[in-house]
Amino acid sequence: MRLTFAGRRPGRWLAPMLWLALWAAGAVAAEVSVPIDSAKAIALGHEMNLYWVVEKSLALLIPAAFLFSGIGARISHACGHLVGGRRYATVALFGGVYALLNALLSLPFNYLRHYRLPFSLGLVHEGPGQWLLGQGVTVVAVMITAALFLWIPYALIRRSPRWWWAWAAAALVPVVLFILVIKPLWVDPLTTVYRPASGAMALQAKALAARCGIPNVTVLVGGDDSTVAGLGPTNRVVLDQDLAKQESMAQIRFTIGHELKHYVLGDNWKALLIISVLLAIGFWLMQRLGQLALARWHARFGFDRVDDPASLPLLVLCMTVLWLAVTPLFLALDRHIEREADRFGLELTHENTAAAQLFAGWVGDAELAEPGRFERIFRDTHPSLGERIRMANSYHPWLTGEPLRYADACAMPGADSR
Ligand SMILES: [Zn+2]
Repeated sequence: MRLTFAGRRPGRWLAPMLWLALWAAGAVAAEVSVPIDSAKAIALGHEMNLYWVVEKSLALLIPAAFLFSGIGARISHACGHLVGGRRYATVALFGGVYALLNALLSLPFNYLRHYRLPFSLGLVHEGPGQWLLGQGVTVVAVMITAALFLWIPYALIRRSPRWWWAWAAAALVPVVLFILVIKPLWVDPLTTVYRPASGAMALQAKALAARCGIPNVTVLVGGDDSTVAGLGPTNRVVLDQDLAKQESMAQIRFTIGHELKHYVLGDNWKALLIISVLLAIGFWLMQRLGQLALARWHARFGFDRVDDPASLPLLVLCMTVLWLAVTPLFLALDRHIEREADRFGLELTHENTAAAQLFAGWVGDAELAEPGRFERIFRDTHPSLGERIRMANSYHPWLTGEPLRYADACAMPGADSR
């Protein structure tokens, strides 16, 4: 395949040769080399893989235990008694109780994995009380969500026993949409302070966003992650609270450029589409696998119909199995979206060296430059830092007059003259 490149299109040689000439003339910055991973970082990577296996095992074991011990059905029936046998109240109450029990059972592991470990690595600075409070708020939000929306699939199972899975997924699309919007607007500000970006950072963000036709972009600073939250008119760029301390202005420009790709190309809508399709497949699995499981184990489960509110752990189990099965595919898509956000950021800012140095700076005890295959397939939402450094080093089509991938999305600096 590579031979055709050399043989048939000699014109292609011009670009790299021109680049070489520019490089020799000093117009192209020197490449940033990929740091070598330390033994400590490699050991931590193995530890994280182990944590991943334990976390996923727990996510399967907890609903399976509720199901096969019959305890889930007993709690569900007790909830039914409490609300005088009213069906939808039973679904709401059992949903809330199940969410709470699940959170309590997962708490020791979550504390180790999501508080102690990042704290020991210096990635988290809040106290354990504050962390617990955040967990509490999340559980309450999940309980309220369950109480508000869980009745929908159960009502549809009754109405349309054959096609309920498709109707339920369609009915939950606006719900997912609602959650994607209310989480950043109302839930996250309960535990994190967000303030509008100011000074040079705000000016840079405004200038870059204006190139992409969004002069009134909302840019907030807060939390410990840079991201794009919300959908449509609630869309906002959220920048890490420590960004000004951690990154140079050139690196901040690249970071904003990367995030603007998620904003401009509506990556959150893609997430909504993927979640909706997965919901439909999950409900369908529940319909198929659920019936099979019930035919075989209904005596152990303590219920014999999919529309019994006690079937919630079965639904959770089916969804978890599905999620695990599609994780590699989903992450591959995620990494593609992130790789393209890097490309977009480079096209918009031309901050290649700053970006490569930024990624090189992230390589350390907590993050590998070149993770192993298990991590890449099952855990990584972004391309490896080594890959990101290499892309920042080598992607600069504007230097050689080659077409830009995102020239239609924004007024990219290299495409100005065309
Ligand atoms: Zn991103």
